[in-house]
Amino acid sequence: MNPNSFINIAIDGYSSCGKSTMAKALAKDIGFTYIDSGAMYRCVTLYFITKHIDLDNLDAIHQALNEIELDVHENQFLLNGNDVSAAIRSMQISQMVSKVSAIKAVRIKMVAIQQAIGNTKNVVMDGRDIGTTVFPAAQLKIFMTADPAVRAKRRFDEIQQKAEKVSLVEIAENLNMRDYEDTHRSESPLRQAEDAIVLDNTFLNPIEQLNFVKDLLSSRQLIAL
Ligand code: C5P
Repeated sequence: MNPNSFINIAIDGYSSCGKSTMAKALAKDIGFTYIDSGAMYRCVTLYFITKHIDLDNLDAIHQALNEIELDVHENQFLLNGNDVSAAIRSMQISQMVSKVSAIKAVRIKMVAIQQAIGNTKNVVMDGRDIGTTVFPAAQLKIFMTADPAVRAKRRFDEIQQKAEKVSLVEIAENLNMRDYEDTHRSESPLRQAEDAIVLDNTFLNPIEQLNFVKDLLSSRQLIAL
């Protein structure tokens, strides 16, 4: 039973398997707030890079975390008042974010912010530890996965729309590295919650994925179709 009176939907899974696309579409469709928890870890990573924080220096990490104020919206992220929504998507951030997000103090701060949001409204939140750590009593937990080559190609196509030029091989290596680091860290590693439903979307289009999740919500009487 979820202790708060709001509905929390947890979407976890590997890097670039369409979590945010699905979570965003779902939230819009059912009138919930969408929260991209990965973007929050990306904001912290950006701050640490900008301030040249040594990841082995715990005092510096704590001090930097105290300086960070995050303002999280559905599609906009303000880091100490600056809109960093585009900057956090760079390859430099993607290369560092799994190392930063493995740090216990970082996770404690992010999880507290995420739980505070979920305690005040109905949310669809995507990430790596939402069903296991952030909302262990979420009313619905989805664990998303897809074939690694398909994931790399999707990410590559998405990045083509942006200014930064990155090869398919670099993207595949980055996804592989992040999945490895995210599943092998000691603090809240990425794993499927026991009560999560697996959604492999290798051969599913966005509408089919949305309907899959809405059917589950309806069968649990969380929404009316
Ligand atoms: O979702 P996205 O790929 O933008 O997340 C970037 C990184 O942030 C992940 O590879 C992972 O290291 C970290 N992350 C996390 N826990 C979450 C969400 C993201 O550790 N709940």
